Amino acid sequence: RTVYVNGTYLPETEATVSIFDRAFLMADGVYEVTSVLGGKLIDFEGHLARLERSLSELDIRKPAVFDDLLEIHRELVKVNGIEDGLVYLQMTRGSDGDRDFAFPDPETTEPTVVLFTQSKPGLANSPQAEKGLKIISIDDIRWGRRDIKTVQLLYPSMGKMMAKRAGCDDAWLVEDGHVTEGTSNNAYIVKGGKIITRQLSNDILHGITRAAVLRFAKEAQMTVEERFFTVDEAKQADEAFVTSASAFVMPVVEIDGQSVGDGTPGPVAKRLREIYLEESLKAAI
Ligand code: PLP
Repeated sequence: RTVYVNGTYLPETEATVSIFDRAFLMADGVYEVTSVLGGKLIDFEGHLARLERSLSELDIRKPAVFDDLLEIHRELVKVNGIEDGLVYLQMTRGSDGDRDFAFPDPETTEPTVVLFTQSKPGLANSPQAEKGLKIISIDDIRWGRRDIKTVQLLYPSMGKMMAKRAGCDDAWLVEDGHVTEGTSNNAYIVKGGKIITRQLSNDILHGITRAAVLRFAKEAQMTVEERFFTVDEAKQADEAFVTSASAFVMPVVEIDGQSVGDGTPGPVAKRLREIYLEESLKAAI
């Protein structure tokens, strides 16, 4: 695989980053994942806009290469022959060759920029979408700026492992009795035809797929309610689902061992998945 590191395309085995890099020492970096379908990028502008915001919220200088990111994404997709898959991008505060809690001088510290691809043949036809996900609910003990897409992903990884050990696929995170989001996706329920998802705030990541799906839902005259919901409400819902750049719209069929609706993917989730894939493929670049 060819990867991109700080201005250079090179084989993954030759790619290096400093051991003093702030992302390695302090998780001081942000990332984006853009999916690729039929060799084209899905929702690229949305991911780029969120990246810019994440950098700005953390006072990480926007590197000059920012303006070339579309070209770099396309080049990696091309040289690695990606039909269906992902482009992973990470930008970190870099390093001044030492370890210190205080940020290094941004004038003299170049952000680190890394991109690589992952091939996922048949990404849009995942058998998981036919089966739906079984999830568990766990406490949300992450930090208070979940709107920033940092590489500080230890607790979401642990949540995913708790789910796997429980024979499930993923976990929903719960704070003050309300679902925030999934380990790596936004969470929704459907009740009486209404699509319910938590409102945007610093408590959740502002999903790029979430924004697109809610827009398509409204365009299709579906009712959307952005508000808190509890795990109990989710268990009593007609349907549940999650959204993310790599899973698109994915039905949830079981929460903490209890079936949601009839325990199979629901019609609203299925329809939204179809609309999302169709519309975002049309707009892919
Ligand atoms: N919430 C969290 C915590 C995530 O990590 C992600 C994606 O990685 C999402 C939501 C979904 O965001 P997007 O649709 O932009 O992929």
